[in-house]
Amino acid sequence: MACVALSDLHAGWGEQSVCVHLSRLWHYRGGLENGPVKVVHMVLLDAQGNHGYATVPMDILAAHINMLHEGVVYEFSRFAVLPRPIILNPVDAPLMIRFTQFTVIKNCFHLNNEFPEWTFHLTPINELPPTNDTPQNYIDVIGVIMAISPARAIRVPHTLRQVFKRRVLLSDHNGNELGITLWGERAIRFNGESVHFMGQTEPAVVIFVGATVFVNEGSKELSGGCACKWYVNHDIPDINLFRSRLPPSFPAIERLPAPSSIILQAQHADVLPTALLTHLMNINLYHKEAGTFRCNVIITRVSHLKKWWATFCTSCHYMSMPAATSLTQPDVYTCGRHGCSSTSATIGYTLFVLAKDRSGEAEFELFGSKGQQIVGRSAGQVIRNNMCHDPAIRNVHVAASMLRKTPPGLLGLLGMKCTFHVRVV
Ligand SMILES: [Zn+2]
Repeated sequence: MACVALSDLHAGWGEQSVCVHLSRLWHYRGGLENGPVKVVHMVLLDAQGNHGYATVPMDILAAHINMLHEGVVYEFSRFAVLPRPIILNPVDAPLMIRFTQFTVIKNCFHLNNEFPEWTFHLTPINELPPTNDTPQNYIDVIGVIMAISPARAIRVPHTLRQVFKRRVLLSDHNGNELGITLWGERAIRFNGESVHFMGQTEPAVVIFVGATVFVNEGSKELSGGCACKWYVNHDIPDINLFRSRLPPSFPAIERLPAPSSIILQAQHADVLPTALLTHLMNINLYHKEAGTFRCNVIITRVSHLKKWWATFCTSCHYMSMPAATSLTQPDVYTCGRHGCSSTSATIGYTLFVLAKDRSGEAEFELFGSKGQQIVGRSAGQVIRNNMCHDPAIRNVHVAASMLRKTPPGLLGLLGMKCTFHVRVV
């Protein structure tokens, strides 16, 4: 079927095909880049130079992930076309592509050199937008590199994880300077030594794409996580023009001291920032956004697939199961923690609900007393109200196991408006 231009896509699930150069691709693996891939993000360019944004969601990643490579031209067909997300758009197209299980990917290697390669929307470095917890777009900038720090490994507070951090200092033609901090894999991939070497004899003009703004010690800086990419002295018209306007003698690139070891920013204890779910699920920065956030959501579903209760050891609060003798001694439990000999347990919530806000949907687990607070009754009470009154069943675990359906008391949660405090580390 004939391919349409990215600018001519229409929203919906109707059959459409595009022929595009995969200009940028990044894997989102969670806040510290340490989990399995959750989403593949792509920036696309068609033959006419229109740009587009596409994602492959987690549930269908396995089918597509190994076929997608930066720099290749593909024909994609059978995808969904949706309005662009409300935050963190890499391009300014009004619609985006989302792959589905039916999406067909066809290589068009013979066209690799026929298509435009780069797309960006440059913001002057002295005109960065204010910092915003839900930035609509990623920021792209151009400048000449003044100084580079080494990559430094930093321990993430409250975890055993280390992340790398590197600072690069840019300047525009008017001497306005801007720092950018690269994180994780980006800090390592940025080849500081070779750029520093190059910068001793010629200016290193760089375009950074896919960054976000944050405030560091009172001044605006950029932060580059997994979406960030750079082009140093590439043969790109904007880079050539920038270089042609530099003075003939230009200072060599200097070395910056290793970046500070601060990762988490202090949060005001009393005023938690409010964040959208989409934002919380896309956090890819280490320092700006870690902390506790408030999100206002509506509960849309109670999970039927996961057990909403469990029995917990009264001594160590580990999960506890009825002992083998529980039919004759109904209240005897075996604690799941090695070495704990406690035989008593209480029943508590492990309730999974889906909740949404205007940006998206996420699953929340309402654990223990949080579940009780929201449902308004203890898990034990809900079970006792719903179990069949068979005097032979004296073990609450056994009785709860016999409940087949989600108790009506829990369905009362549907439509409930909640404010959750979500801790992101
Ligand atoms: Zn125990």
